[in-house]
Amino acid sequence: MRHLLGIEELDTDKALALLERAEFHGKAARTGEISPGSLRGKIVVQLFFEASTRTRASFEAAAKRLGADVINLSPSSSSVTKGETLLDTARNLEAMKSHAMVLRHPTSGAPHFLARHLRTSIVNAGDGTHEHPTQALLDAFTIRQRLGRIAGVRVAICGDISHSRVARSNALLLGKLGAEVRVAGPRTLLPPRFGEAFGVRVFDRLEPAMEGADVVMALRIQRERLVGSLLPSTRDYSRSFGITRARMRLAKPGALVMHPGPINRGVELEGALADAPESLVLEQVEAGVAVRAAVLEALES
Ligand code: ASP
Repeated sequence: MRHLLGIEELDTDKALALLERAEFHGKAARTGEISPGSLRGKIVVQLFFEASTRTRASFEAAAKRLGADVINLSPSSSSVTKGETLLDTARNLEAMKSHAMVLRHPTSGAPHFLARHLRTSIVNAGDGTHEHPTQALLDAFTIRQRLGRIAGVRVAICGDISHSRVARSNALLLGKLGAEVRVAGPRTLLPPRFGEAFGVRVFDRLEPAMEGADVVMALRIQRERLVGSLLPSTRDYSRSFGITRARMRLAKPGALVMHPGPINRGVELEGALADAPESLVLEQVEAGVAVRAAVLEALES
């Protein structure tokens, strides 16, 4: 694989191969096995222009398990504060012979732009409201691990659909893998023609979307991307769109709950539900390391 820019560009066979390989890494991590060290002597650069806890830490853990050296750069600690452009910064890092550059950026398309100009492999760790491919891969991995399959599974993705790169990447990947995807959110947070573009059913109320769902995925309200008055108040929002234990009764008995993190407890997801046995939140985080190891290993450069 040359780059991982988005699920849109990833064919289904490659996605399945990454999930298979991630299973190997997941098992190795659980049994404390030594990693194969396939990236020994290589450099992985992490360029994060937006905040991150899980994504950055798990890429780093994955790279280190594979024996790579990791360089972490954020705008405040780099020459970006002195006016250096993204491309110049990236070119300089490439000159240090990096194996891969893991980029998170507030602008949709930033990783695609770098991929057009650099030889090093680019991994999209979240670009604006566009895509977050490794999140979708780790979510698919988690669902498959728990339910034994993805095809035919009904997944309701709920919340701020407009600003969510997680919603886009998940709708694409789960769709490619044969799941029945539904999305639900307030009308102001549902992009026009999302249903046709992503092949999913769209609901402006939670209840019909959650009916019979095997998995309910709550999304964070993307406050940093909300402009104008798209939401009355978080209290009103959580009253109509918060995922609670009571609402989970609409889903299939034993339905699972997911959230990519960070959680706004009591807003999009009830705190007690986030900690309940049916919550996969920490399994998603664990899967992140295995999936990202599979991705870093699959890159050509
Ligand atoms: N961590 C995920 C992302 O970066 C989800 C979120 O921030 O709401 O897209």
